[in-house]
Amino acid sequence: MRRYLVAGNWKLNMGPQAGRDLAAAVGERLRGRTLHGDVLVCPPFVTIPAVAAVAQGDPVLLGAQNCAAHEQGAYTGEVAPGMLKEAGVQYVIIGHSERRQYYGETDADFAAKIDLVHAQGMKAIFCYGEVLEERKAGRAEEVVRAQLQAVLPRLEGPNAYNLVLAYEPVWAIGTGETATPEQAQQMHAFSRALVAEMLGADVAENMRILYGGSCKPGNARELIGQPDVDGGLIGGASLKAEDFVGIVDGAEAVVG
Ligand code: PEP
Repeated sequence: MRRYLVAGNWKLNMGPQAGRDLAAAVGERLRGRTLHGDVLVCPPFVTIPAVAAVAQGDPVLLGAQNCAAHEQGAYTGEVAPGMLKEAGVQYVIIGHSERRQYYGETDADFAAKIDLVHAQGMKAIFCYGEVLEERKAGRAEEVVRAQLQAVLPRLEGPNAYNLVLAYEPVWAIGTGETATPEQAQQMHAFSRALVAEMLGADVAENMRILYGGSCKPGNARELIGQPDVDGGLIGGASLKAEDFVGIVDGAEAVVG
């Protein structure tokens, strides 16, 4: 049985003070509850220490949105995986479509980053998904296969178990347009079959595959209720404690 993961990607929002308040509000709503899955927040780098300070004792895990493809050296403006680990980070999002689109990051960058995240004993959340033109052209599965092929076969042994996938159809990110539960399930089942093909049936059975793209309290239960959807990567709705916890409630309703 896979534990669900509801992960908030705060993107370029929430400085240390606002982030501390948001994490405290989420923690307050979840404290004392027995959750059947994992809840994660991924603040901007500078906000990580403030969130780490208030999340102590709460069932809220700490993540980062990106990391450098190097551990140290002359890479101005970068933050190394080892530094994130030292700051208390447990998960790092890699390959978000905004990294591909605005920063020109490539599959090779993502593969290198995932290796370093694993070398630090952290878990990577690898994002992938097709853009609208690719879906309209009937190429969604082909695109997803290529994106997973670039990363998965390199993972060996235990590292395969330290990867979470996040299927994020780019046309659904921040647009208010959500994949239907049927569309999500179809792509998740396809993804899981690819994981089985590339890494074996046991890894596929255990790998959590999150859905991302305009997930909200009102649609979370139905999406996460699909057999191959193991939680959500949440952008906009992670910025309000009530909405974010509403999505956690949706996930709990599926399990409970
Ligand atoms: C995201 O950017 O990962 C995301 C899913 O954003 P939103 O929930 O706002 O669509």
